[in-house]
Amino acid sequence: MKVYNTMSGSKEELIPLEEKKIKMYACGVTVYDQCHIGHARQAIVYDVINQYLRYRGYEVTYVRNYTDVDDKIIARANELNMNALDYSKQKIVEAEEDLSRLKVRNADITPKASENIDNIVDFCQKLIEKGHAYLTEKGDVYFSVNTFPQYGKLSKRKTEELIDGVRKDVEEGKKDPKDFALWKSAKEGEISWDTPFGKGRPGWHIECSTMALHNLGETIDIHGGGKDLVFPHHENEIAQSESLTGKQFAKYWIHNGLITINGQKMSKSLGNTMTIKDALELYEPEVIKYLMLSKHYSTPLDLNDKEFAVSEMNLYYFYNTFKAIDELKDVVLKDYENNEVFKSINANFIKSMDDDFNTASAISELFQTFKYLNTLIKENKDLNILKAIKNEIIRVYSVIGLLQEDPARFVLSLKNKHLKKANLTVEEIEKLISERTNVKQEKNYVKADEIRNELDAKGIILNDSASGTNWDFKELYTIM
Ligand SMILES: [Zn+2]
Repeated sequence: MKVYNTMSGSKEELIPLEEKKIKMYACGVTVYDQCHIGHARQAIVYDVINQYLRYRGYEVTYVRNYTDVDDKIIARANELNMNALDYSKQKIVEAEEDLSRLKVRNADITPKASENIDNIVDFCQKLIEKGHAYLTEKGDVYFSVNTFPQYGKLSKRKTEELIDGVRKDVEEGKKDPKDFALWKSAKEGEISWDTPFGKGRPGWHIECSTMALHNLGETIDIHGGGKDLVFPHHENEIAQSESLTGKQFAKYWIHNGLITINGQKMSKSLGNTMTIKDALELYEPEVIKYLMLSKHYSTPLDLNDKEFAVSEMNLYYFYNTFKAIDELKDVVLKDYENNEVFKSINANFIKSMDDDFNTASAISELFQTFKYLNTLIKENKDLNILKAIKNEIIRVYSVIGLLQEDPARFVLSLKNKHLKKANLTVEEIEKLISERTNVKQEKNYVKADEIRNELDAKGIILNDSASGTNWDFKELYTIM
């Protein structure tokens, strides 16, 4: 299996530290607001990686944290006159609801900064003892970047560039602008803990190093996060962890690409943020998931109406095919094991996914298979194979969480959504179609075309065949 490693800048063979075992840590959400669609991509990507590694027989321990103490959380909680931890607890519950609606499966361990204060303080103290960190008079603890000569090795930044990446104004007691806070002394009105450094709270970076060490050990196999975390967050995690242990922190660094909305970076000021709840108001959970997984995890992903429409269309096609197979009567599952298409499903999936978790390729493999299924449906033959292939697709693609819905329900849900959009009912469409059939029999082709155009303007297309006229939605229709 090949994995792209940000550290080496190349695809590498995945060789775990311990045979058939993987220790994986992915940076989770800072819960200061509702989860947005970027959080969803990150959670989906590492869920898929976790599930796929298990599918390939690895025993995985997957840790995904929640940052529940942070400047933004404290500011929000203060606005609402709430205790910061009560506020973040509430946001974690909401985040978990959002992610479970997207059927993102839980990590094995979901540690929180506030529950690891003793471990964090201990980590800081050890770094001070080793000369990698210092305590200021004010009670802040900083990591001394100059004591870690390899600093910048992940982001490939040089020292001069590093200074551009950090705040220029030098905080009181900070010896070098490059140094970053491990521990922050308490300000008025902030949540704090009593520690040997005085009253204070942890900085952001230290929690991940601490929780990875505590839950997974000194060296882990895979560390993941969004591309925006490479610098400074992950660079700082490496400096902290490797200074403490003297060992490599993570063998493979995986980073997922970021999301834009209609070609623009998501931002509150542009008014183009999309929360998970917003997206779920508009789309079936699997449509959102399909869109995310139809691109490779490392590429940027633009969310726009057109991309969502394509995802809806493709899933509608897949589920309509499944629905047609479900409607076949008295099919006995037998003699399918040697069917080439049947055998290719798992083999092609593994080939795609073994190549740096290429879900985009795994999804594109489906189109050939569905074409084959539709040919068999049309010819009304090999019904046992149809059913066996459908079951196999559901089994294999459960790893990436796609095609797991009830086909009839899914098709109906999209139909109802598009009827609402067209402002039509099924009865109205069928009435117009029978009217058209009548005028055609009277050879009034002008009127017949008028009806067709009227429906077309509302997004409904008609297909005439020997057995009558079928209709479908223009936006969803794929020739089967
Ligand atoms: Zn982190």
